[in-house]
Amino acid sequence: KITSGPYKRIILKLSGESFAAAGERGISMEEVVHISAQTYRAKQQGVEIAIVIGGGNILRGAQFIAGNSSVHEATAHYMGMLATVINGLALQDALESLGCETRLLSTLKCDGVAEPFIRRRARRHLEKGRVIILAGGTGAPFVTTDTAAAQKALELEADILMKATRVDGVYSDDPEKNPHAVFYRDLTFEQVRNQNLRVMDPTAIAHCMEHNLPILVFNYRTDGNIEKAVRGEQIGTRVTS
Ligand code: UDP
Repeated sequence: KITSGPYKRIILKLSGESFAAAGERGISMEEVVHISAQTYRAKQQGVEIAIVIGGGNILRGAQFIAGNSSVHEATAHYMGMLATVINGLALQDALESLGCETRLLSTLKCDGVAEPFIRRRARRHLEKGRVIILAGGTGAPFVTTDTAAAQKALELEADILMKATRVDGVYSDDPEKNPHAVFYRDLTFEQVRNQNLRVMDPTAIAHCMEHNLPILVFNYRTDGNIEKAVRGEQIGTRVTS
């Protein structure tokens, strides 16, 4: 199918929490299939989709080391990266159970379960219409999968980085805690930086800002939102130069 939307290639950042039932940890295949179905429908509109998957539903390095002096911080981050591979496997099977062709690629070497991430190979999969799932983050500790999403978007020359979250977009404060938090429809990178707004981690923001890569933050819990985002409809918060 030919896409009627504004984007040819998108990076979709799915956090680990989108894989767990509300308020829980671990993996709920019901949730994974739900987000997979949305993603597949979006893909069928004719865009190329590369998913960067998080691991926070299983383990976040920075949280894991709190009060744990017996594990090195770097080790904890590697554990987090491996968590993204576990999520990647679940996502791959969920998408394939719906008939969507996928490839799982990992930046961290994981022979036996995932292909190595090789830029040209990743692009080839996209051109052939496969949804690629990018696991292993950046392959390096001390950052998060937001940074991986920004880096992969630049490497793969995506038109936009879409970050699916639990809230409708970017607010002046945490909307789950402060009922007076103001919602922003459009922001510039400058505003995000100056107001210290929580969009993505600062390294990810810096990458996007430097390379003029737009970000869309939107709510994955509203059914049909991934499709709307792909069509370029007005949802969530857009961050541009
Ligand atoms: N991580 C890392 N390097 C990376 C990506 C991830 O060390 O390039 C580790 C980090 O500890 C992180 C964890 O993997 O907390 C899981 O990723 P993230 O927190 O980004 O998952 P999400 O919040 O998106 O579910």
